[in-house]
Amino acid sequence: MDNLSVKMATLTVKQLPAKDEYPDLSQHHNHMAKVLTPEMYKALRERSTPNGVTIDQVIQTGVDNPGHPFIMTVGCVAGDEETYEVFKELLDPVIEDRHGGYKPTDKHKTDLNPANLKGGDDLDPNYVLSSRVRTGRSIRGFCLPPHCSRGERRAVETLSVEALAALEGDLKGKYYALKNMTDAEQQQLIDDHFLFDKPVSPLLLAAGMARDWPDGRGIWHNDNKTFLVWVNEEDHLRVISMQKGGNMKEVFNRFCTGLTKIESLFKNKNHPFMWNEHLGYVLTCPSNLGTGLRAGVHVKLPHLSKNAKFEDILKKLRLQKRGTGGVDTAAVGGTFDISNADRLGFSEVELVQMVVDGVKLLVDMEKRLEKGGSIDDLMPAQK
Ligand code: ADP
Ligand code: MG
Repeated sequence: MDNLSVKMATLTVKQLPAKDEYPDLSQHHNHMAKVLTPEMYKALRERSTPNGVTIDQVIQTGVDNPGHPFIMTVGCVAGDEETYEVFKELLDPVIEDRHGGYKPTDKHKTDLNPANLKGGDDLDPNYVLSSRVRTGRSIRGFCLPPHCSRGERRAVETLSVEALAALEGDLKGKYYALKNMTDAEQQQLIDDHFLFDKPVSPLLLAAGMARDWPDGRGIWHNDNKTFLVWVNEEDHLRVISMQKGGNMKEVFNRFCTGLTKIESLFKNKNHPFMWNEHLGYVLTCPSNLGTGLRAGVHVKLPHLSKNAKFEDILKKLRLQKRGTGGVDTAAVGGTFDISNADRLGFSEVELVQMVVDGVKLLVDMEKRLEKGGSIDDLMPAQK
């Protein structure tokens, strides 16, 4: 195409009125679709972030994935740090809706001091198979995965490999680029729950996060795979601490130590993490803002999970369940991934505390039901 026809194409799109471009959201159940109106769309269509992120890019994943009345997805993603500010008319209410009334004036609190966690070292390993804490971090100065270019993504990878090489002792590790791994090696890491799956979820695909796969993606981990960093999946970085059994305290200790070191390594390279007082750590999906923290266990609950009150109990404890194959998988044989439901409005320590206390209660309930007893006296109040 010559220059003239490129210009004409841009003009044609711009010339169509907003109502002709407005997506059909009539069958949709996601937070974006609940908030967006034709008037709002019309106003936001006139803007783009300094990196060229448009409202259409922000909402595309929610347009293509209508969701389900019982599974409310978010329906939008950020393409860069500025997205949250430039499109705040949409994103503020989405955040408020998704994070239990978190207001634009609210301030996020961070607490990464593991000494503030009470207990957590004695979850019964006969029920709790493994413990894990993860968060995401975005590196200031680069667009986020839905919008970054190939070169930017590779620059994030290079910077991460350089920064992580400085970790020492127990945390010393190596980077493995996806493109240098065989399919069998990749599958083994996925099966062992260490590595992200290939992006088949329509939510990720429609958000543009699988572009150029596997270019620029990889996993860094220490020798015994208890401290891991995913590079360029849904976020620039996903930092993970995990181990077998029920010692969440040890997992959280390592998580805080490692994460704090990583943060200063990136700062020293003049690339601090994206953070502000209101949103906390800025991540790709609005559902992960704040702490970005998901503390979870794989736990055997074959009796409790069949109890009619299971869902209600989880809700009261502010916990969520997944299958052990990760998000979007179903639980098999009564073993679940149980983790904190919140990310924003609570500190890291508070969220891990909820998981530790909640899982302890779930295991007590499971033991009761196993013996044919009642759990009525163990029912928790709303947290
Ligand atoms: P994330 O919130 O980190 O994106 P996903 O649900 O997508 O989590 O799962 C990513 C991978 O981490 C999956 O392979 C999953 O089995 C594994 N995983 C999650 N929680 C645990 C846990 N407590 N123990 C072991 N593996 C886990
Ligand atoms: Mg995931």
